[in-house]
Amino acid sequence: MTEKIGFLGLGHMGAPMAANLVKAGYEVLAYDPVPAARQQAATDGATVVGTAAEAADAPVVITMLPNGKLVLDVYAELLPAAKPGTLFIDCSTIDVADAKSAAVLAIGAGHRALDAPVSGGVAGAAAGTLTFMVGGGAEDFADALPLLEVMGGKVVHCGGSGVGQAAKICNNMLLGISMIGLSEALVLGEKLGLTHQSFFDVVSTASGQSWALTSYCPVPGPVPTSPANNDYQPGFATALMNKDLGLAANALRENGIDGQLGLLAAEIYQRFNESSGARDFSAIVTEIRGRSDG
Ligand code: NAD
Repeated sequence: MTEKIGFLGLGHMGAPMAANLVKAGYEVLAYDPVPAARQQAATDGATVVGTAAEAADAPVVITMLPNGKLVLDVYAELLPAAKPGTLFIDCSTIDVADAKSAAVLAIGAGHRALDAPVSGGVAGAAAGTLTFMVGGGAEDFADALPLLEVMGGKVVHCGGSGVGQAAKICNNMLLGISMIGLSEALVLGEKLGLTHQSFFDVVSTASGQSWALTSYCPVPGPVPTSPANNDYQPGFATALMNKDLGLAANALRENGIDGQLGLLAAEIYQRFNESSGARDFSAIVTEIRGRSDG
């Protein structure tokens, strides 16, 4: 087992992921530019370092950052500082092309690289039950597996560099589409006199069932842990869903796919993001309700 792990990006997801690595007995060298994030990491038992480069002093370095540009910027600092053969695992959700560039840069600098984005949200990160979708070489995957299993309940090797990100983009396009569809059905049900609980009791075991409903219900009540019960504090911010749907829309266009719902979901979340980017993405139900007659 690798004893020391560098961890950069201690936000909603990275903080609980790093905390789980600490709990499993790893020494985590944690870096984030935000003081509150560093404070939380220290409270969780990580060794907080003052620069990104200091976090590269480990055989494995994990990044959990908001976007691909930041990943590439941070890699530019980390790669020259790391010892040869360091395994870089990027868990952020980024463009497939950026993921491939990050791997090419890492390998070109004498290191190893995996893209390993996740699904499961903040609750999954805290519980250590994330799903990891991994792109990269088989040997690197095998080396990463024990520590990914600390943070995740399911780890899938999807293919070569960038293919983990491909899986993530496909998954989140489907999640965006299903959250919009679910929200439209809930608002229609409200109008027709169906309570949220009755809707949940029927649909959660019927053919309209989805993760969006059973684990992340966008109205308060049926799933007490969902952000709807906490005034739509993220959770998974609308700004991030907007980002992911933008990545999916680009991929649809670049690959000539007739993805009408994916493109429409990207448009709907882009508009919602302009007014409500900081709210959880499930708050789209309030937008649909607000825009509906009566
Ligand atoms: P976040 O904004 O809460 O956290 C990102 C963290 O990165 C912040 O703490 C920020 O200060 C830090 N950061 C910025 N620049 C940095 C740098 N140069 N070095 C080190 N740290 C830096 O975002 P999040 O919700 O934790 O999401 C992180 C990634 O995970 C994103 O790519 C997102 O799309 C993906 N993701 C999020 C969720 C979710 O439910 N929040 C679920 C799955 C995947």
